[in-house]
Amino acid sequence: MINQCQSCQRYVHPPVPMCPSCQSRDVVATPVSGKATVVSYTVNHMPWVPDLPVPYVFAAVELDEQPGLRLSTEIVNIDPEAVFIGMSVKVVFEQQEEIYLPLFEPQLP
Ligand SMILES: [Zn+2]
Repeated sequence: MINQCQSCQRYVHPPVPMCPSCQSRDVVATPVSGKATVVSYTVNHMPWVPDLPVPYVFAAVELDEQPGLRLSTEIVNIDPEAVFIGMSVKVVFEQQEEIYLPLFEPQLP
């Protein structure tokens, strides 16, 4: 789900209560495809977070729904060295207690 303005249809992320394009407050969480493209990434080898085994890929992905609609995430289910800018990915949800984190994995053609 990504917030979408009901007045001009623009997707708004990170979520804010007012549309930055048309100032409408009619912004509603809306289902999206979960498909995206890697626009930037880094492979982290430092164990900054005790529960997060290294190496892992921290990335910015752009959702298919709108140019510039980006999400910070982790790319999973792939050798970190095989990730590239422009790679097609799709969302997978990882449950951590009561939260479902949106991570992304390679999208098969
Ligand atoms: Zn709007």
